[in-house]
Amino acid sequence: MQSITDNESKIKRDVEHEDIIETNNLTGDKQLIEYDKQVLDNLAGHYEHILESVGDDKDREGLEKTPMRVAKSIQFLTQGYKVDPAAILKSAMFKEDHKHMVLIKDIEMYSLCEHHMLPFFGKAHIAYIPNGHIVGLSKIPRVVDAFARRLQVQERLTDQIKDCIQDTLNPLGVAVVIEAKHLCMLMRGIQKQNSVATTSSFTGAFLKDSTRSEFINLISSSLS
Ligand SMILES: [Zn+2]
Repeated sequence: MQSITDNESKIKRDVEHEDIIETNNLTGDKQLIEYDKQVLDNLAGHYEHILESVGDDKDREGLEKTPMRVAKSIQFLTQGYKVDPAAILKSAMFKEDHKHMVLIKDIEMYSLCEHHMLPFFGKAHIAYIPNGHIVGLSKIPRVVDAFARRLQVQERLTDQIKDCIQDTLNPLGVAVVIEAKHLCMLMRGIQKQNSVATTSSFTGAFLKDSTRSEFINLISSSLS
């Protein structure tokens, strides 16, 4: 079975080469991305107008296939709307008495800001303390993708991941920290090139100082 990263780079290559066959590993199953042809055509039409509106020539060779390519790209980047993140967790929940912190740090995260439709990207660090059930570790990054592949603000993304894990797995606590760079800040406006936005959200045991400190220490350490 390919890893998520392998699949994603395959998808990126395929999109670049305009192949239709793309593997969607978001749900954990290999399946074709369900492109909605009507939506693709509609999007491509709008992108043609955008090319004209910015003053370029939509008919020149280099741009000939750009509207459809961008249409596919934006459908890929917003496919999270069609994914049920709770179902991802439910597909791999196991009874287990382990009651210590489970931490997955440095989860790659790519999303689009809903204000400018420009990427923001970085790392998510997620921990939970089981309460009778654990979840397959690979499912946590998939939950991140399911929420990140929508138009988002970083604050809501952080809360949605936390709420999904809390409501589905019912652990003793959840901690989510996201660190991200926003291209809408970096490429336009004040161009603060190195600024990173950090958001966090906690439930249950992580509201206690000692547990939260342990989590923060673990994600800050470079031992990995
Ligand atoms: Zn923005």
